This record gives sequence, structure tokens and C-alpha cells, in this order.
Amino acid sequence: MARYTGPVCRMCRVEQKKLMLKGNRCKSDKCPINKKRPAPGKDPKGRAGKRSDYGVQLREKQKLKRIYGMLERQFSLFFERALRMPGITGENLFVLLERRLDNVVYRLRFASSRSQARQIVLHGHVLVNGKKITVPSYIVNPENEISIADGSRNLTVIKDALREYGKSGVMPWLSLDPDTMKGKFLASPRRSDITDLGDIKEQMIIELYSK
Ligand code: SF4
Repeated sequence: MARYTGPVCRMCRVEQKKLMLKGNRCKSDKCPINKKRPAPGKDPKGRAGKRSDYGVQLREKQKLKRIYGMLERQFSLFFERALRMPGITGENLFVLLERRLDNVVYRLRFASSRSQARQIVLHGHVLVNGKKITVPSYIVNPENEISIADGSRNLTVIKDALREYGKSGVMPWLSLDPDTMKGKFLASPRRSDITDLGDIKEQMIIELYSK
């Protein structure tokens, strides 16, 4: 599956929002948003005040897509799947994104960013219910156990992430045993449980795809 390989911090500068794409750097003084670097482009200030409805909807979609590290085709497939599910489409979309295996690996503190989690999955270090899964977009189900493969438990990248982030615990819909490097996806979260993504307005994303 293709992925974005350009400069990552530029995406945050475009949105003028911390999308937390680079792990430890995002919390440091080196973060360009902390340094108040302006949006890229010739006249970012001039453009900011003149967004059309379409422009505002597009930005909401881009923010969410970039947070979860997805390209347009895959994101629109997720949206279509959310649309077909019973219930509220915006809520379904968030739940599906949260159930992606790379996201769950990141949320379980096995990686310092979603892109690092994606690499950990791709390289075969992650098991779901004891079976190796190498597809970052694999959808995790409630009660699934997510663990690090025996031969990968000494990987510095995983141990460092657990040491750095494990102290702050995991989201309430997950459980983690850092000693055995095993976690569980207890249940699908509700939209209101996902509190760390800022003020993303999913209704605008729905309006954009409804055009
Ligand atoms: Fe870069 Fe992270 Fe700051 Fe975004 S939040 S600009 S990815 S350091």
C-alpha cells in the first residue's frame, strides 16, 4: 500500500495544528508548531481568512486522514465502509480508524507514532490472537489480543516506546501488560471517548463526501 513520503512536519504546518506525526519530536521544542512556524506557501496568512465551505470541509478531512497516516484512496474506502455500517457515519468512521491495527499498536505504546507502528506491523513484529499480521489496516475486533512476537521483544524501538509512553497508561478501551508486551482491544470506543484528536468536525467530512 502506498504511503506519503514527503516532509511530515509540513502537514502540520499546512493545518496549523499539531498532528503528532513524529513521536518524541512532537513534544519537544523542535516542533515547528511550537516554534510558531507559519503555514508553507507564498501568502499563508492571506489565504487563511478566505476559505470557502468546501475549503473548510477539505481541511477537516485532510487533518483526520493525516493523523491516521492514510492516503486518499484508502481513506475514502474507510468512509464508504462507515457509511454502510448501522449508526452515525461520523462515529463509525472514527471507530474504524481506531480499530486499524497500526493505530492499536500505537495506542498500546508499542510505538512512538502511528508511522512507526505501521513499520512494526509491516515487519512482522505484531501478533493478533497469537497469529502474525503484517497488514497495518487490519481491523481489530473487540477482545482481540495484540502482542509483540517473541523474537521481537528486545527491539530497542519497541522497548523505548513502552518505557517512554507506557507510564501514562492506555486509552480506556484498551488494556496493556507492559511486562509481557501483550494488550487487548476491549471494546470499540465511542466518539466521545476519543479525546486527543482536537476539534475535528466529522460532520464536515460527511458533507464533503456527500457532494
Ligand atoms: Fe512535526 Fe510533530 Fe510538530 Fe507535527 S506535531 S510539526 S509532526 S514535530
